[in-house]
Amino acid sequence: MENNKKAMYKLSYGLFVCTVKDGDKLNGCITNTAIQLASDPNLISVSLNKANLTHDILKKTKACNISVLSQDADFETFKHFGFQSGRDVNKFADSYDKSNYVMADNGIPVITKGVNACFLLEVKQMIDLSSHTLFICQPSFMTVLSEAKSCSYEYYQENIKPKPVRAGETPKGETIWKCTICGYEYVGEDMPDDFICPICKHPKDDFEKIVR
Ligand code: FE
Repeated sequence: MENNKKAMYKLSYGLFVCTVKDGDKLNGCITNTAIQLASDPNLISVSLNKANLTHDILKKTKACNISVLSQDADFETFKHFGFQSGRDVNKFADSYDKSNYVMADNGIPVITKGVNACFLLEVKQMIDLSSHTLFICQPSFMTVLSEAKSCSYEYYQENIKPKPVRAGETPKGETIWKCTICGYEYVGEDMPDDFICPICKHPKDDFEKIVR
């Protein structure tokens, strides 16, 4: 057997919007890391990359909501919450359709469009994991919003994410490192080992080298 990092892609994940609130500032990001950890008490964890604004707000406020994305979710939702930072844009500005979400009792939005369930969470414990912080949370409320199937990471890759366009985009002979997560392209022969995708914050391991 050979060591093969693609094994990481064989782990199964759901996809979620983790929303937070800091004063008047609402924000949220896409995560694949919400899981039930224990049943009595019921504990749900979410692990967030420290580069995300949502991480900083959750660490400070210790409250978030998890909206479980269903197979009805459209690519726009992934782009809106996953491919831009709350440091650059207000993800809950007036331009974001108010029919996509409701305000929950904790003052934090729950996404309702393309979502089949939601959880209101209070952080009980935080564990520093270098690149990420693991937030261990207790739900104060949860409900089912639709009977649509949950969107797995695999379903997203195969059915929601647009297929990449490869040919004819750049002059011939250029080396491109393409992020397999969000499609961001880094042009150049060598990409630094510590490179982090500016869009989705994934590391060099998630880039594929393409020569055009
Ligand atoms: Fe990316």
